[in-house]
Amino acid sequence: MTARHRITVAHGDGIGPEIMTAVLRILEAAGAPLEPEEVVVGRAAYEAGHPTGIPPEAWEAIRRNPVLLKAPITTPQGGGYRSLNVTIRTTLGLFANVRPTVAYSPFVHSLHPGMDLVIVRENEEDLYAGIEHRPTPEVVKAVKLVSRPGSERIVRYAFEHARAHGRRTVTCMTKDNIMKQADGLFHRVFDEVSAEYPDVRAEHQIIDIGAARLAAQPERFDVIVTLNLYGDILSDIAGQVAGSVGISGSANIGATHAMFEAVHGSAPDIAGRGVANPSGLLNAAVQMLVHLGEAPTAERIANAWLATLESGLHTADLHREGLSEREVTTEEFTDAVIARLGTEPERLRPARFETRRVAVPAPASVAEAAETVGVDVGLRWDEAGRDPAVLVAAIAAALGDRRLRTTLVTNRGVQVHPGTAPTALLTDHWRCRLQPADGGTTTAAEILDAVGALVAAGLAVVGTDHLHRFDGVEGFSSGATG
Ligand code: NAD
Repeated sequence: MTARHRITVAHGDGIGPEIMTAVLRILEAAGAPLEPEEVVVGRAAYEAGHPTGIPPEAWEAIRRNPVLLKAPITTPQGGGYRSLNVTIRTTLGLFANVRPTVAYSPFVHSLHPGMDLVIVRENEEDLYAGIEHRPTPEVVKAVKLVSRPGSERIVRYAFEHARAHGRRTVTCMTKDNIMKQADGLFHRVFDEVSAEYPDVRAEHQIIDIGAARLAAQPERFDVIVTLNLYGDILSDIAGQVAGSVGISGSANIGATHAMFEAVHGSAPDIAGRGVANPSGLLNAAVQMLVHLGEAPTAERIANAWLATLESGLHTADLHREGLSEREVTTEEFTDAVIARLGTEPERLRPARFETRRVAVPAPASVAEAAETVGVDVGLRWDEAGRDPAVLVAAIAAALGDRRLRTTLVTNRGVQVHPGTAPTALLTDHWRCRLQPADGGTTTAAEILDAVGALVAAGLAVVGTDHLHRFDGVEGFSSGATG
């Protein structure tokens, strides 16, 4: 007898319980070797005073079992609540968000019948790291954090996913023409990792034109791997273009845990009426089975579902005159899928999954020689009509005969020194780059001494970022944009 996989099951809010009941019935009918452990998370837990929507006993189960199948939950309005999804994602280290988006034309209306792609989105880093500061009254900063191991892991996952699912091309999307450090690192890692997968075609596109192409010609994409924010936006574009947001599932994958859910929300407007489409959660469950190494069962279910779509038995959200045979309830749709277990679609491409589980090794650590070559000092300064020359003179006076000198001043990223007075809007936040006059290296102690001199002279230091070179390559932007 096959070993059974213990999974945590959360029924969620709104239509959640209805679609979860439907999906569990189909899983059982298909003989999926699962042992569900049910937990209550979401609205009831929020209302019971758990700010993350997850009571301690639910956490225990979620941590104990490597897989969580979660129905949508209703996010409470108002302050004091934390996003349940973000909490689970960050606590369990679910680094990859995997969203297949397929057009099931002609049975589900789509403008792009040939669309069949997967977006692999980095799920932890980027602007979602939540590192934001307001250094001065006029300016806020959000840190775009991109790590080499984080990039390597997601890119490798995308290639492994491509191989396991017989996909041919992985497209990386970044904006490295502008963010040369952050997006540049992601692109560089993509180029390095792709060389290990000669059987998969690798290409890079700048995110803006890539997103435009995704909207206009989605059928030309296969697997897309990208950073967190871009992935968030691209996933919704893809879902919208396919015309099937309601039937897509998504996987959140980590090294030890994974969470599977529908892309849509808890649909409170139709909750309790028995008309919701369980397909999004069912497709997530299919992804779950493949992840658990149960590809044959995943295929049985996916093909029965495709055959049901072909039969024209559609829930209200998909029902269209001319395309559908009959509008059915959640229960009738579920019965129809179960009745078709063991059959395959006739016109839609049958699902085929490999048993090979997608796993990525821990990224190798990098040992590059680092040297410190200066510091960017953030200053709040609102004097002398915001004339940069006056600020530079004040810094020079404060530094006296120290080795560090001002080599660059920017305001909103625009170089204002050296050079002519800019016509750009100037704010109260200035970034002043101090580097040794002789172009050599410096130390943290020398930097602190120089920064201390600025403070002693009455300049308002609001932040510092040290400048490093790694194996001789500058690890900071030139700052001379605009
Ligand atoms: P929604 O996805 O719940 O609903 C949008 C529209 O699509 C509604 O008209 C709804 O009736 C319809 N719809 C969605 N799923 C359907 C299905 N399976 N069958 C038939 N029709 C379906 O989005 P929303 O209304 O913006 O959000 C409702 C709640 O869900 C909010 O509290 C939101 O925070 C939450 N939400 C949760 C998740 C999650 O748990 N992962 C994701 C998105 C939204």
